Amino acid sequence: MARILLIEDDAALSRGLVAALMAEGYSVDPAFDGQSGLEMALDEPYAVITLDIGLPDMSGFDVLKGLRAKGCHAPVLILTARDAIDDRVRGLDLGADDYLLKPFEPKELGARLRALLRRPQVDPSPVIRVGKLEFDRSHHSASIAGRSLDLRRREWVVLERLISRVGQVVSKERLASEVFGYDEAVAPNALEVYIARLRKKLEPDGPTIRTLRGLGYLMEEDGD
Ligand code: CA
Repeated sequence: MARILLIEDDAALSRGLVAALMAEGYSVDPAFDGQSGLEMALDEPYAVITLDIGLPDMSGFDVLKGLRAKGCHAPVLILTARDAIDDRVRGLDLGADDYLLKPFEPKELGARLRALLRRPQVDPSPVIRVGKLEFDRSHHSASIAGRSLDLRRREWVVLERLISRVGQVVSKERLASEVFGYDEAVAPNALEVYIARLRKKLEPDGPTIRTLRGLGYLMEEDGD
């Protein structure tokens, strides 16, 4: 069941849309201002975000800018009463995926959402942020709170594999095969050596790498 975040300050409209979308089988969380919408979107992996432009505390454009700047790439569908062409263009320029002009029929919204959900999910950003750690795939660089990390090639690969799966357990065997390949003769504790070095380099502000005995490794956002 796809989860939708509905950022809309009009309480009556919000109630109506939540009911209509739930009837179509979506799970819907409403947010009534820009700030809470932004926080919710960064906390949860929503399948689609619908975004009103006229919000009480900030414009939907600023919400969209904030989302993209913080690495949230969920598809965004702008819902706006403004029919000025400039607004539509501006929204799309800022990274919105589609827009719908108010007033609209709930079934039209349903159709637009289905179209967005059918799109393959790609992460266009090579930069991943986990807490204070910023990891840039395209430049092969990583930094913590602006301090750049000096990583050896294998350490880089281990970090890349873990950071791609933050919050998930990665088995030791899988990680070892991704880092060393299957056919390379490697000392059994080689992976542990890299993990230990990496932990030192991530201290004290970076994400933590936990060892779960018998299961594997888990990268967690919190460094304290
Ligand atoms: Ca509004």
